Amino acid sequence: GGPQPRETNMAIERTLSIIKPDATRRNLTGAINDRFEKGGLRIVAQKRLRLTPEMAGQFYEVHKERSFFGSLCEFMTSGPVVAQVLEGENAVLRNREIMGATNPANAAEGTIRKDFAESIEANSVHGSDSLENAANEIAFFFSEIEIVG
Ligand code: UDP
Repeated sequence: GGPQPRETNMAIERTLSIIKPDATRRNLTGAINDRFEKGGLRIVAQKRLRLTPEMAGQFYEVHKERSFFGSLCEFMTSGPVVAQVLEGENAVLRNREIMGATNPANAAEGTIRKDFAESIEANSVHGSDSLENAANEIAFFFSEIEIVG
């Protein structure tokens, strides 16, 4: 019995983040990582790589019927990306707040997309939109031994 400690409502989560080619091209990896760390998230895994067309198509498979799919896959393979696992309290939602809205024109002040995105497509960062997708997207890029909390 008795009151539950406040900590029971606080979930330490992990989410998958990608710093997209528009941002790596402009040398913004450090500036973006600073937003995550100042926002209370820890970078517990990180790798720079170039996506193949196959990887981009598989990663964005849910969007394959959308008009923007082909262009999005071309953009995502146009330069290096930095895939990373972010960890912290409510990390999935927290990261979405730090990122801002998909379209930078709609993104709130102080968000990554407001400050750095070039367009709705070249919007600097990806972040998982649910805990379930986060688990799948993390496994797409990382093995367990590469994630060090
Ligand atoms: N995207 C695009 N045109 C659109 C909508 C989305 O090019 O009209 C791109 C954009 O890079 C976005 C990604 O597709 O980040 C995935 O779209 P989603 O709706 O899942 O947005 P997100 O979860 O990234 O905010």
